[in-house]
Amino acid sequence: MGRLEKILLPFLGLVLAFWFYSARENFKPEMLKGKRVIVTGASTGIGEQVAYHLARMGAHILITARTEAKLQKVVEQCLELGAASAQYVSGTMEDMAFAKRVVKEAETLLGGLDMLILNHVGTSYFGYFNGDVEHVRKLLEINFLSYVAMTTSALPMLKESEGSIVVVSSMAGKVGFPFTVPYSATKFALDGFFSSLRQEFTIQNINVSITLCILGFIDTDSAVRAAGDVLRVRPAPRGECALEILKGAALRRRELYYRYGSTRLPLLLRDCAADLLDYLVRGRYRLDALRRP
Ligand code: NAP
Repeated sequence: MGRLEKILLPFLGLVLAFWFYSARENFKPEMLKGKRVIVTGASTGIGEQVAYHLARMGAHILITARTEAKLQKVVEQCLELGAASAQYVSGTMEDMAFAKRVVKEAETLLGGLDMLILNHVGTSYFGYFNGDVEHVRKLLEINFLSYVAMTTSALPMLKESEGSIVVVSSMAGKVGFPFTVPYSATKFALDGFFSSLRQEFTIQNINVSITLCILGFIDTDSAVRAAGDVLRVRPAPRGECALEILKGAALRRRELYYRYGSTRLPLLLRDCAADLLDYLVRGRYRLDALRRP
């Protein structure tokens, strides 16, 4: 009996896991056709690619960032790719009034909102923590507080549409990474806020999904410029990353890991072998290539 339990129970677990994952709904691009979506930080990088995928799927898109000239080009490209509509608002997420204004614009221009994709990120440094508390405060405003402000403003529209909030985070928001201390702090804050909010939505039967995206190293210009020489890992393609984010969002997943092998799997060590995980993380850096302050 003991041996039967030892073999049968794990086998049953595997069968159930297989059934659970294979029975889950598959992504279809039509799921996003006609949806009204805000994408922040969409002038470049992952956000720009998210906008292009949404355009191909026929969504209504409102993009935002600071650089107007780049936003104009992204909007033009989105319209060429088949967006139902594409518009932009430019401004800085250091200003909470601007964060709220973007949501107001969505209400005026799109008549509601189905998906809020929070992706923008303020500039930080790559190196040992330099003790600049003011920088941490500013980065928290851009990377965290503006996410909270936009979510709060968008919630009435998202409740109405039973829509989705997508929060683009990082492995650096799940496990301690060296050389990005202020950035990591802002990403951990996102996990705390949005995971707690998801619990409250469930308790209150609010049908707004929250998808937290845990990304590894992606080949955007800014990331490669900051860490390309120091990291031993090859960056993953931003276009594929953007598509995975949209799939996770459309399927209303609670968390999305990209790439799975370099994010979800190492995180399995976090609770049972944290020191080993820290050691493996440190091993990803070429310390000799790090610019000293
Ligand atoms: P990126 O290429 O540097 O793009 C950042 C975007 O944010 C740009 O559109 C930028 O446009 C905008 N932005 C910057 N400061 C802003 C401000 N003060 N107010 C409003 N918008 C501002 O970044 P990315 O590499 O695509 O990263 C996108 C997301 O993925 C971020 O949340 C990042 O943390 C996450 N992520 C990236 C990687 C990676 O390796 N690339 C890894 C893990 C997680 P303007 O300069 O025109 O304002």
